[in-house]
Amino acid sequence: MSETHNSETRAAALTHFIGGQRVEGTSDRFGDVFNPATGAVTSRVPLASVTEVDAAVAAAHAAFHAWSETAPIKRARVMFKFKELLDRHHDELAEIITREHGKVFTDAYGEVMRGIEIVEFACGIPNLLKTDFTDQIGGGIDNWNLRQPLGVVAGITPFNFPMMVPCWMFPIAIATGNTFVLKPSERDPSASIRLAELLREAGLPDGVFNVVHGDKTAVDALLAHRDVEALSFVGSTPIAEYIYAEGTKHGKRVQALGGAKNHLVVMPDADLDQAVDALMGSAYGSAGERCMAISVAVAVGHIADELIERLVPRVKSLVIKNGMERDAEMGPLVTAAHRAKVEGYIDAGAKCGAKLVVDGRGHKVDGHENGFFLGGTLFDDVSTDSTIYKEEIFGPVLCVVRVPDFASAVELINRHEFANGVSCYTSDGGVARAFSRQIKVGMVGINVPIPVPMAWHSFGGWKRSLFGDHHAYGEEGVRFYTRYKSVMQRWPDSIAKGAEFTMPVAK
Ligand code: NAD
Repeated sequence: MSETHNSETRAAALTHFIGGQRVEGTSDRFGDVFNPATGAVTSRVPLASVTEVDAAVAAAHAAFHAWSETAPIKRARVMFKFKELLDRHHDELAEIITREHGKVFTDAYGEVMRGIEIVEFACGIPNLLKTDFTDQIGGGIDNWNLRQPLGVVAGITPFNFPMMVPCWMFPIAIATGNTFVLKPSERDPSASIRLAELLREAGLPDGVFNVVHGDKTAVDALLAHRDVEALSFVGSTPIAEYIYAEGTKHGKRVQALGGAKNHLVVMPDADLDQAVDALMGSAYGSAGERCMAISVAVAVGHIADELIERLVPRVKSLVIKNGMERDAEMGPLVTAAHRAKVEGYIDAGAKCGAKLVVDGRGHKVDGHENGFFLGGTLFDDVSTDSTIYKEEIFGPVLCVVRVPDFASAVELINRHEFANGVSCYTSDGGVARAFSRQIKVGMVGINVPIPVPMAWHSFGGWKRSLFGDHHAYGEEGVRFYTRYKSVMQRWPDSIAKGAEFTMPVAK
């Protein structure tokens, strides 16, 4: 967690964004926001009390009626304009992300692009809201469906994708006619305010999109608020489970995406160059702070020794530096506290009998001695009973588990409590097909390391990686943010007879 402190600290204070304006709020609690590459506190984020949450929900509630009555094509036009603005400010948004999250600029640039793709999807909302109509179900009656917005909906998002994950939610929520309150991560809160400003510039009416910064106090206020109809959450599994339980207890619709432990299976017939490249990018990209990061390589049969031999020099030569430098491959972790947590896992792994073949602890970057850097770390011969195998580390740590055959690889993965993403590297079509059918994981890559579905498919894990019935974005997103209604209608001049006391059937 960010440290909290009182308002005397010198770093500039950020604001909430409520009813179309930056709002300072009344809470005297603040959190530190760091530049992870330098370790410096760059700003203070206000941590909302119930008052600010109430104000944001009230603004969204007041804006709902007019916005939900706005024609979908007009809502789509705001999205088109917003997309243009995002294109224009692409570099700026990526820099904001790198400065507060630490991920390398090129990766942050990609994050912004993946967010833009959801906005592009939301531009097609008139077509997506089109529904079925049946003419003449009987006796002059027609039957059709509507998908209507829910009202005020809220999003609670994690630190690791401060632009993309909010974009999994609000473009679709808003385009379908809802109004939105975002509670972004308090560790990298600035991107959300820039998004709010760009939405306003795109012509979004005040109050349709609001941002409230904060911690558990703000989240609990949203969970209990009478006027919040639905909550989308993305973050760690214990909090996802809590959000789902509390939100549904208060009668809200909830989708809560949680943590992960993603495996990549390397079959003996895999193209090893491709598999090693895949592991490098997916285990160490964004310093492993991705819910789709690969943190376990499952080496099948004789491939294990050669895999380790090839990985070791690559992990040792990772280009680790300030993410603003364009040749950086990996930046720092988000906070010193998070780095200490990841180091704790490395300590535990080394003690539990796994072979620590590359140790990233103590890694220093010249000129950035106070940055939250950690070197790439590689464990071999990891046991499935160990903490480093069972728990999500969320850092640049790759564990290699050795198994004798394909069936053992599938069984191992299917036993894990997390089931977000998975990948299999093979040249055998039969193995590929069997893997994608047998594996109990929500998102599957075949010779693809991080299978994040495109905007018009949907994103979500299985088991303890997702609580709720709907995956995020795509058509699942449209379903989540709308309520299904079925209408039957006939006109008085087609009513032929009086009261009917039997079940009506088509004649
Ligand atoms: P986190 O669970 O600590 O925080 C997520 C959000 O919940 C933040 O907005 C935070 O302020 C809020 N929060 C934290 N503690 C809370 C509490 N006790 N009560 C109520 N709200 C609370 O997660 P994080 O560290 O920001 O992000 C990393 C985690 O997110 C990882 O576990 C990662 O796998 C997961 N994640 C999952 C996905 C996915 O799609 N499944 C995507 C991205 C990240």
